[in-house]
Amino acid sequence: MPRDLPKAYDPAAIEDHWAEYWVREKLFAQPTPTADADGNGEPYTILLPPPNVTGNLHMGHMFEHTESDILMRWRRMSGDRVLWVPGTDHAGIATQMLVERQIVSEGATRQQLGREAFVERVWKWREHYGGVILDQMKRLGASVDWQREYFTMDEKLSVAVREAFVRLHEQGLIYRGAYIVNWCPRCQTAISDLEVFHEEQSGHIWEIRYPVVNKDGKDSGKFLSVATTRPETMLGDVAVAIHPEDERYLHLHGMKLRLPLMGREIPIILDEWVSRDFGTGAVKVTPAHDPNDFALAERHHLPSINVMDDTGHINAEGGPYAGLDRYVARKKIVADLEEQGLLAGIKDHVNNIGHCDRCKTVVEPRLSTQWFIKIQPLADKAKEAVRQGHIKFTPEMYEKTYFEWMENIHDWCISRQLWWGHRIPAWHCADCHKITVARVDPAACAHCGSKKITQETDVLDTWFSSGLLPVSVFGWPNITPETRADFDAFYPTSLLVTGFDILFFWVARMIMFGCWFAGDVPKPDGSKRSLADSVPFREVYIHALVRDANREKMSKTKGNVLDPIEVVKQFGTDAVRFTLASMASPGTDIAFNIARTEGYRAFANKIWNAARFLFMNIDRAAGIGITIDLSELGTIPVIGSQTPDIGRWVWSEFHQTARKVNESLENYRYDDAANAVYQFFWSIFCDRSLEIAKVRLDFSETADRARTKAALTNLMQVFEATLRLLSPFMPFITEELWHAVYDGNPPAKSIALASYPLVSQEHFDLVVDSAQNDGVMERLKYFWELIGDVLSKRKEIGIPEKEPAPIVVHAVPMARRAFKENLDVISKLARVSSIEFSETDIEGPDVFRNLSYYSGRVVYQRTVDVSAERERLTKEIAKYEKGLITAEQQLGNGDFLAKAPPNVVEGLKKQESETRALLEKARAALASLPQK
Ligand SMILES: [Zn+2]
Ligand SMILES: [Zn+2]
Repeated sequence: MPRDLPKAYDPAAIEDHWAEYWVREKLFAQPTPTADADGNGEPYTILLPPPNVTGNLHMGHMFEHTESDILMRWRRMSGDRVLWVPGTDHAGIATQMLVERQIVSEGATRQQLGREAFVERVWKWREHYGGVILDQMKRLGASVDWQREYFTMDEKLSVAVREAFVRLHEQGLIYRGAYIVNWCPRCQTAISDLEVFHEEQSGHIWEIRYPVVNKDGKDSGKFLSVATTRPETMLGDVAVAIHPEDERYLHLHGMKLRLPLMGREIPIILDEWVSRDFGTGAVKVTPAHDPNDFALAERHHLPSINVMDDTGHINAEGGPYAGLDRYVARKKIVADLEEQGLLAGIKDHVNNIGHCDRCKTVVEPRLSTQWFIKIQPLADKAKEAVRQGHIKFTPEMYEKTYFEWMENIHDWCISRQLWWGHRIPAWHCADCHKITVARVDPAACAHCGSKKITQETDVLDTWFSSGLLPVSVFGWPNITPETRADFDAFYPTSLLVTGFDILFFWVARMIMFGCWFAGDVPKPDGSKRSLADSVPFREVYIHALVRDANREKMSKTKGNVLDPIEVVKQFGTDAVRFTLASMASPGTDIAFNIARTEGYRAFANKIWNAARFLFMNIDRAAGIGITIDLSELGTIPVIGSQTPDIGRWVWSEFHQTARKVNESLENYRYDDAANAVYQFFWSIFCDRSLEIAKVRLDFSETADRARTKAALTNLMQVFEATLRLLSPFMPFITEELWHAVYDGNPPAKSIALASYPLVSQEHFDLVVDSAQNDGVMERLKYFWELIGDVLSKRKEIGIPEKEPAPIVVHAVPMARRAFKENLDVISKLARVSSIEFSETDIEGPDVFRNLSYYSGRVVYQRTVDVSAERERLTKEIAKYEKGLITAEQQLGNGDFLAKAPPNVVEGLKKQESETRALLEKARAALASLPQK
């Protein structure tokens, strides 16, 4: 029996089941629209930022997926045709490194295996291990369309990558050029910044004297000293740079220097980039071995001289040092300089040196030939799209960040010296040395017809393929009348939810590629696509970070990383999701606190118990022949003057909550939405509605059966609607209980396919507006406040909890009516034995009062055992005094104050002042006792 719920809420027992059910039943599949089945509702499309195929789910993912899933579930239930597309990224560098490490551990190398076999090996790896993160997403219930899962190396997406490359090449936007890369002399490959780790090492700065050459070509006898940490690179110097306003060197403007050891003349150039305070203020310029020097040389149109080979040995450009290992050459160069009197000094220096992540060899910045995209035309279009408001950023400030980057954009280096990835579709000709770029692998050179062509060995940057995703997942470039249904229905996508760290890597590139390539796809009627319809998405929501409870960034070195899967095991997915949602709003980082998750698990427990209570009452009703008509659930009942006050009141609260939740989600205020539904479920439904039910539901022989049935039906209606309201936040427990509410025969396969509570303005006014609802809310407001007042007064006086006491109340007519109509509830909840209504205001001690609406008194004659009371108070005073001493000791301990987190110190201070107040109160009470 679905309603036969286990006594204890156990998330593990229900979540696996539903996660599996949602996937198996393909509940979130959004098929390609066909002419006769166009689908219902407006398309609402979102792409999952594809996690790396090597990835494991971390808290950041879980946060991102929770935020997306709440929105998608909410939109789907609200009637949109939601499509959420999942997939993984082939992650060139990370994956190649991982598989390579495996091969090395087997005693072989990638090179021994060869390119083809290695790539095959990576595919095998992916088959076995590549789905971990998606499996984790399935378990956490992400409502994505698994039928559309993609991988960036899939055939379909690879076609898009190739088309994009070829098209950009045809448009003259792709070129090859020189570029400084991190080179590992041992692995003999360029490696990305991600594969370089930096480590401080003690080394030296050498100061070298470069002879100044007169205009007649003779040495002037003067010198200019430059400082360097890598003297061997001087073999490739092409200039020395100084700051144009450096007064020390004004006399050198326009002069030349003679490069020591090599003998060639090099110019002195002026550039504001040079720091006057660093070293001697004169900087040697070695464009082939330093990225800053490379940029400097570009500005001054200087050549680049590469003096090292692939293995880190000096090449022929290094003259007498050719053939020496870089460090051997360094020693010899320093010795030679010293011998020639050109070494001005050696200083100790700590360098931050880049090492190869794989083999730990010191990385050599080195010039190499790479492929680039001339990005400006694409960037211009992408800027225009945002400027014209076709893409909206939330939080807004990221629009500024976007423009700042786009204004200073550099050509994009798209080649990587890897084997795993999309191999660049370009062929080099051994005869004419020209390049053939083609959509289909060519058999001969397009320029001279030679058959001696070989494919480029580089692959494309991973971001090239992920940048194309919004167009490629919907079939681009294959957009024909027969194939274009997906593209027409789902492009542009509606929203992108992602982190700020990939704003440039990914978001900006999708905008550039989207505007560029989709712009060429005509509309279904053949007309030209506008920029507004070319953008890859209409909105970007940049989510914040999940930090630890002390607002520290989670990091492996700090050891404060929380594994979401572990937290889920402990508290359930729903509680973890709710924790994240309850703190999420645009631009606000989350301080993830387990204590909060524990609290939301208790919330889920409360909902569970509410369901059990309701089902128990349905059974009791059945016992006297009352059956609840399940077809009356799932709708908002018509409220009229016949409806009892309590029913009108609860629906009024419900409508206001539903409106708040809808409006908050519209504005990405997950926190407001979650807190509103939490408040309603906990305080309004459980603490009030159900408590009233306990008083009023009558299953006795003499019961007014129609009334009992109506009351129980109303409770079930509110409960069912609240489950739907909560479902996007806590999909598992709501699914379980919703099926139980319908006794296993729900009107849809899943609560996720039921409709989200949203009522018409007309109905909202009828229920919420006091002119239309007969002032129910105002009236009942005093009723609830009276209960609160009586309870706190009873506590103050010290009436034993179970002992009822009479009250006397004076109230204005509206409040009086509410009190009179709900006497039964007041007596139960406020433990009132009888109410006497007074015609006059009540004054004196022990009075409670609510402005001019009511005043009252709890009538209670206290009988006090003086000696027992004295003993109790004396014990209490001693306890408080002891507590104060401990607190004072701690707060007086500088060491403790320095180390303890601020929230702990705050808490301690608060506790101290509270104890002090209690102590004073107890002392006063003791003093007021009659003397012996
Ligand atoms: Zn290496
Ligand atoms: Zn050729």
